[in-house]
Amino acid sequence: MDSLINKKRPPLFCPGCSHEKVVGALDKAFCNMEIAGDDIVMVSDIGCSGLFDTFFNTHAFHGLHGRALTYAAGIKMANPKLNVVVTMGDGGLGIGGAHLLEACRRNLDITLLVLNNFNFGMTGGQFSSTTPEEAIVGSGFLNNLEKPFDVCQTGIAAGASFATRCSGYIKHLDEKIEDAIKHKGFSIMDIWGVCPGRFTKRNVLTPKIIDEKLQSLSAIEGVVKENIRKEYTAHYKEVASALKPLKLAKEIKPEFKAPETGKHSVMILGSAGQRIITAGEILCYAGLKAGLFTTLKSDYNITVLRGHSVSEAVLSDEKIVYIGSGIPSAILAVDEEGITRKKGIFKNLNKDTLVITGKDIEIPATNAKVFAVDFKGLKIKSNERALASLAVMVKHNRIISYDMLISALKEIFNQKIFNASFELIEKIKNNELI
Ligand code: SF4
Repeated sequence: MDSLINKKRPPLFCPGCSHEKVVGALDKAFCNMEIAGDDIVMVSDIGCSGLFDTFFNTHAFHGLHGRALTYAAGIKMANPKLNVVVTMGDGGLGIGGAHLLEACRRNLDITLLVLNNFNFGMTGGQFSSTTPEEAIVGSGFLNNLEKPFDVCQTGIAAGASFATRCSGYIKHLDEKIEDAIKHKGFSIMDIWGVCPGRFTKRNVLTPKIIDEKLQSLSAIEGVVKENIRKEYTAHYKEVASALKPLKLAKEIKPEFKAPETGKHSVMILGSAGQRIITAGEILCYAGLKAGLFTTLKSDYNITVLRGHSVSEAVLSDEKIVYIGSGIPSAILAVDEEGITRKKGIFKNLNKDTLVITGKDIEIPATNAKVFAVDFKGLKIKSNERALASLAVMVKHNRIISYDMLISALKEIFNQKIFNASFELIEKIKNNELI
């Protein structure tokens, strides 16, 4: 194999840019390994390193600044056979710093080439997270106040199983890249280079200075023994295949006829602990038992057993394109917290809406048809009020029938809870005052 360079769009950088060296070395590594372009995905970040994907006849993905590793992770998970090579500059690496840490922790078989030229080249030479403190950059003095971060040391601390720090000008860069690609796990290469277009307009940096600087640091070259472990996609497959398969979705066959046609919404207003959302679910299941389309949206506090709880179910004999309640056909107002949350809706209601509430509950003024239940007198507990209100709604022959309700309860509850719920519904059904 000769080359994977895209002859229609050959690499073009400022004269003397080290990126050109990396393009050549990467191409040589691909050729040495005889990997077909179809088996490679180049994922590039934003900036001059972001042009890499256009230079090669491979698959390519170019996304948001700093996020290249996230796309690469998705691509590798979707198809572990692909060779995924990511190019990022030091700018993008800083922007997506957390993604670097996660990639190192995860150990997906991805190769990250960091084209580290100590500044944001493309956008005018602003300081990045690797800019030396003493450098003069186009963005003022802030780099004088910050410690540049060490790409490889950071990666190793986070769990990278392969790390190399080198100059982009070394003779056998292709072999180092090849080693990184061949490594079965996350590989990071911190490749130092010169950006003549921006950085060296104000600073002195040459390949020789880069060599001297690298020699003054401890060598980081290749496999990181203490971080060697299973590659993520293989490990994931192993763990996932040992899990019990998920249950198939339950099929609910229509058995009954709903008492009303058209689209109806029911708003259940209560507080946490009153099984408001469960009541919404029962309503939806009841709708499904009559072959209706249903949606449910709920609103509750982040707290447990405190705060409002509101459920809004829509049941319709046509597809539901808007899941809001509009003017509800029924409101089950079982606690003041939920009522306060939706108090504005009551003034817009007319007699077509049935409001079921408790005799001990105050609701805002409304033109709706209001039916107040003596929950206390009937010894119906607070957490039974929502279900009891559904039973009252059934008695008013609105939206769902008795059979739909009972059948929904059978779908949702175990025998013990079903028995208790059934008893409550029978109590409402047989009460002549309701
Ligand atoms: S701005 Fe710097 S990094 Fe970008 S192409 Fe020019 S020299 Fe290379």
